[in-house]
Amino acid sequence: MDIKIELATESNISTLPQDSTKLGFGQYFTDHMFFMDYNTQRGWYNPRIEPRRDLVLSPSAMVLHYGQQVFEGLKAYRGEDGGVYLFRYKNNWKRLNNSCQRMVIPPVDPDVITAGMKKLIEIDQQWIPQSEGCALYIRPTIIATDPFLGVRPSETYLFYILMGPVGAYYPEGFNPISIYVSDKYVRAVAGGTGEAKTSGNYAGSLAAQKEAREAGYSQVLWLDAVERKYVEEVGTMNIFFRIQDELITSPLTGSILSGNTRDAVIQIAKGWGVNVVERRLTIDEIAEANNKGQLKEVFGCGTAAIIAPVKKFFYKEKEYQVADGQTGELAGRLYKYILDLQYARIEDPHGWRERIA
Ligand SMILES: *Cc1c(COP(=O)(O)O)cnc(C)c1O
Repeated sequence: MDIKIELATESNISTLPQDSTKLGFGQYFTDHMFFMDYNTQRGWYNPRIEPRRDLVLSPSAMVLHYGQQVFEGLKAYRGEDGGVYLFRYKNNWKRLNNSCQRMVIPPVDPDVITAGMKKLIEIDQQWIPQSEGCALYIRPTIIATDPFLGVRPSETYLFYILMGPVGAYYPEGFNPISIYVSDKYVRAVAGGTGEAKTSGNYAGSLAAQKEAREAGYSQVLWLDAVERKYVEEVGTMNIFFRIQDELITSPLTGSILSGNTRDAVIQIAKGWGVNVVERRLTIDEIAEANNKGQLKEVFGCGTAAIIAPVKKFFYKEKEYQVADGQTGELAGRLYKYILDLQYARIEDPHGWRERIA
């Protein structure tokens, strides 16, 4: 398969802040992008790398009106040895195609987008930050481009990969988050689109996020949409609760995003002999366990933060502190282990890491 390559004549890397703690998330983008088009006659065609540019879309492009879109989020890491590493990206392609199926978007060939992504990373590899905890964030995206206002699946699509350097999630060490249990808004319901990584899920979450912020909390803890009592996710992360000697997370019920990090945490913790249980857990059971001193730790997990320890949560007019309000033992251990794997500081017994440059 041929990927046409057009290189940028000028690099934007000079705009990068020298101080990597100022990188933040999603503010800076590399010089190049990967693109591919779709129409019903040709399928996916014209895979190519071009200088990063703005898109030209009809104001009637279907994605702008009905949100027919899917995306992924993954990272490339600069290892201790100077190598460039990817982590379990095949899972991202599987999930991307699952999201496509739900949103009636034609699936992409994992081999084609793998080749495009690797080439793109190779071309823009000077953008991968060296500092501890920093990485190159990779955002594959598919949008519906038919210029048409009827509600039906588009017949044309654009696939692109946008990349940018991101800073360490915790530049000054772990900073446990506070969460707000929303009983007014819900994120997703089985049969809906919660299992797909698609734009509308995030637009729909903003009102709850705003309410949480106004109450002084950093993230929303989502309850199930039917009974409003089972915990599902926190913000855009999966969530784990350690109650006595069990590490509990919600099963994939159809309204939960199947996180790559969630799966890694489950496998690693099981390997360490932790009793990992996938079962539905009510917020009342958590509050009760907390009152009895049985709630040992709570943490969210996702590609951006890896592990986000939770220090307190707010539910129905009451605030609960989790254990001593500090990062839990397991959360700290998982965080260090996953980072060590990603930055190639330790052997990878799982076969999760791939060196690409
Ligand atoms: C992306 C995402 C996650 C985390 O998935 P990872 O593959 O671990 O990054 C969890 N929940 C939601 C809603 C997400 O969008």
